[in-house]
Amino acid sequence: MKVTFLGTNGWYDTPTGNTVSVLVQSQDYDIILDGGNGIAKADRYITQEKPAYLFISHMHIDHIAGLHTLCKFRFKKELKIFTQKGTLAQLDTFVNEPYTVPFAILPFRNEVRELAAGTHHLPFTVTCLPLVHPAPCFGYRLELDGKVIAYCTDTGPCDNAVTLARDADLLITECGLKPGVTSPDWPHLNPEMAIGIAKEAGAKRLALTHFGSGVYQTLDERREVLERFAPDYPGLIVAMDDMTIEI
Ligand SMILES: [Zn+2]
Ligand SMILES: [Zn+2]
Repeated sequence: MKVTFLGTNGWYDTPTGNTVSVLVQSQDYDIILDGGNGIAKADRYITQEKPAYLFISHMHIDHIAGLHTLCKFRFKKELKIFTQKGTLAQLDTFVNEPYTVPFAILPFRNEVRELAAGTHHLPFTVTCLPLVHPAPCFGYRLELDGKVIAYCTDTGPCDNAVTLARDADLLITECGLKPGVTSPDWPHLNPEMAIGIAKEAGAKRLALTHFGSGVYQTLDERREVLERFAPDYPGLIVAMDDMTIEI
């Protein structure tokens, strides 16, 4: 299974990358996690022949801004879009006139559905649980091709992130903050907190993405995180835009 980081910035685009979006290519499905501006690059990697899925974590614009580019895609099968229970009306307001092309007239078959917290069979197994963030935000756990991928951004440290990442082959989470920095009023993770979740969960690998745009202004600042923390957690990956990893 291939995981490609289409966008790795939090908040806004800079020369370090686009806002957050991750592509998971399994044997039978193309799965996109979040629709930040990075999502516009998905067609560089997929043929659009497989059934496609898009999971939205929350309504902050760095996670949905790229949805206005959906109209350039030509998915041959259906695109199923999932968002947290209670947020469908908000998403439908954003992806609509006068801002952009509404879901209903996109040039491919699509369905937008809410998901309640819990485990669903879509047909692959997806578990979603609320994280700790100012806007209601879901973390996801995907189980397919015999692998487990957990996607938990945006969040502060919380038990649900650990539950979703339990024994995962890959935990993808955020790195909004520099080492040693916390922001209790607007929860995000620093590298130590992210590694703490991965270790507590027994995740084999941890990919940091959603680097705060104003906080990590260069890719070298991201690489410093890798150099400093990889000795402590050898499964650490510091994501960059267009990086692909195999799991
Ligand atoms: Zn964000
Ligand atoms: Zn957010």
